Amino acid sequence: MSTFSDKSNRLIILHHSEIALKKGNRSYFENRLRWNIQRALSDVKGIHVRIDFGRFVLSVHKDCDIDLVIDRLRQVIGLASIRLAFTGDPNPERLQEQVFELVRDKKFDSFCVATNRVDKQFPFTSTQVNQIVGARIHQALGARVDLKNAELVIKIDIVNKRVYYSVDIFPGERGLPIGSTGKVVSMLSSGIDSPVSSFRMMKRGCRTIFVHFHSYPFTEKTSLHNALELAKILNTYQNDSKIYFVPLADIQREIILAAPAKLRVVLYRRMMFRLTELVARREGARAIVTGESLGQVASQTLENIAAISEVVSMPVLRPLIGMEKEEIIEVARRIGTYDISIEPYDDCCSYLVPARPETNARLDEVHAAEEKMGDWASLIEKVLQETTVEKIQFPPR
Ligand code: ATP
Ligand code: MG
Repeated sequence: MSTFSDKSNRLIILHHSEIALKKGNRSYFENRLRWNIQRALSDVKGIHVRIDFGRFVLSVHKDCDIDLVIDRLRQVIGLASIRLAFTGDPNPERLQEQVFELVRDKKFDSFCVATNRVDKQFPFTSTQVNQIVGARIHQALGARVDLKNAELVIKIDIVNKRVYYSVDIFPGERGLPIGSTGKVVSMLSSGIDSPVSSFRMMKRGCRTIFVHFHSYPFTEKTSLHNALELAKILNTYQNDSKIYFVPLADIQREIILAAPAKLRVVLYRRMMFRLTELVARREGARAIVTGESLGQVASQTLENIAAISEVVSMPVLRPLIGMEKEEIIEVARRIGTYDISIEPYDDCCSYLVPARPETNARLDEVHAAEEKMGDWASLIEKVLQETTVEKIQFPPR
């Protein structure tokens, strides 16, 4: 990273995304984000974070691995941009030289200087600073000034009597800081959709607990392994996750014995929802998240969604309900879950499922089938006792 080769005096400036909209609660969101930034970098020594007029300013020790720090910050939800910066001299003539030194070896035909003067006591206006700094670069390097489409954008921030200048900018993940809007429990299969639906809620500020259902020992352990790997990837965006592994096999056996084959999927899923709600209550979560998308598979018709949601009193959030598969895949690829999701696995929902499952489950039939199962409530209790939890830490230590 050439512009950062002078390691003394290095800074990183972070702008947050939507927090600015939350006027009354601004400090609440800011503190949450600050905590998340510190957590994401907690294994990196020599970083100090402070808040300076609505932006985070990180001072970075010369021995820090800056690429690692940037990679970590790019996954912190709530940041709009990440800029490598230096402290500049408040005297524009000297600042002019500092900026020139930073860009003189770069190749660019057009540039602009964008000064943001938060400190109105500063004796020069932002336009004056732009002109003074820009003139030096134009004269010495011949590059033309382009305010709209510059190849190189030089940012200068004047905040609280301090001056920062930078040219390297990385996009942040945006969204609301994890934990700022509450906690949810997300049903995580090892398919393509549910990692994306989990991620969507994470971006809305939800701390997300994962629940995975499996039919082991009736099926292999692949789905558990894949779900854990997916949770680990998602964890890089939220740090310190938890995944519950719920054994569904005993319940499935009872369903298979008691109910018509075509109702199996709906009945499996009603039990999954009941169990998820119990986990959510134990965790103090306020909603259940699924990766359902209307019409995608047999269990995702409006009728079946109704027959499944009926069993829980907690809100069920379905962030993908109106999305197309291609759009979902695009997100999955970007966040890095796609390759694991397409690995083959035994799905507990496809365990002993007929080729033509019911797409229009009638509630009276569903209720009758559950009646026939007898004391399923004790079975649920037993399953919860056999449920295991795995904690995932990030950053790794
Ligand atoms: P996905 O790609 O997320 O597996 P899907 O298109 O295969 O979804 P279904 O199998 O009908 O659809 O599942 C719908 C939703 O139910 C999933 O998105 C997920 O939230 C939840 N779900 C399905 N299977 C499991 C499982 N084994 N463990 C936890 N949740 C599951
Ligand atoms: Mg699935």
